[in-house]
Amino acid sequence: MKYDVANRRIWFKGKILNVNDAKVNILAPTSQFGLNVFEGIPCYWNDEEKQLYAFRLEDHYNRLIRSAKLIQLDCKYTKEDFKKALIDVIKANEYDENLSVRQTLFVDGFGSWGSEGPVEMFVAPISRGRTSTEYNKKGLNVCVTSWRRISDENLSPRIKCGANYINSRVGQREALRNGYDTCLFLNEAGKVAEGPGSCFFIIKDGAVITPMLTDSVLESITRDTVILLAKDKGYKVVERTIDRTELYTCDEAFLCGSAMEITPVLSIDKYIIGTEDTGVITKDLHLAYLDAVRGKSEEFKDWVTPIY
Ligand code: PMP
Repeated sequence: MKYDVANRRIWFKGKILNVNDAKVNILAPTSQFGLNVFEGIPCYWNDEEKQLYAFRLEDHYNRLIRSAKLIQLDCKYTKEDFKKALIDVIKANEYDENLSVRQTLFVDGFGSWGSEGPVEMFVAPISRGRTSTEYNKKGLNVCVTSWRRISDENLSPRIKCGANYINSRVGQREALRNGYDTCLFLNEAGKVAEGPGSCFFIIKDGAVITPMLTDSVLESITRDTVILLAKDKGYKVVERTIDRTELYTCDEAFLCGSAMEITPVLSIDKYIIGTEDTGVITKDLHLAYLDAVRGKSEEFKDWVTPIY
């Protein structure tokens, strides 16, 4: 019962409420224009320790503050308030499984897209079950969408705001319409950027390669995690511009993000990647990721914050 969506409790404007009682006016700028910034914060259950760990909380909050600053949302809540709200709402739900916690600063009230405020917050955990003991990540068939990724010159992909996801949506809808699982965006220079809700890596001759942060991508926390885990494992890591043709000839490819974790790409525009099975390096990195997020890696223990 406690995991039913209808029974979920969320933190909303300073109170913990049933999700059905948390209401925003239809004329609020967040409803009308997607005027909000947010984080999807992964939390992982560690069954041996009977502990729930939030992953790279400080980094998520730093990015949330940067997003708010870039679109001039003046927020009354501090980082300590963010953290307390997240812990309180998880405890109120007594979760003992993996979560994605949506933590959003939004413009409330009756203003327009130019409104200064009021800036409010909600924190809504979404339950995601427990991590399987078997490696069972399914790969995806991906296309390059005909839409371009938004750029720093108009709507920066560096800002994690609701409105940016309409660009993600048109790419994703095109992919689904054409029978693919998801898409990859090229940036305005025609170089590889990212997926609609994830960053992207290829493996070529043993090197782990990803577009640069200036290639029209979100400053993804999973991207950074993968880079650090790969270096720790002794792989060569390269951040550089990727050409479209490299997509079709790479040895392995994967998408990554807090929700996707590390998800292998099986084909791109129907070109088969590698052997069609999960790539060896992709799997190696995913297993290292699962250890890190569950607080099982001594080396990266400072990435996790215990909830209980
Ligand atoms: N790019 C986009 C467009 C995203 O929406 C996400 C998901 N937040 C990512 C990349 C991955 O970011 P993170 O690793 O911080 O979840």
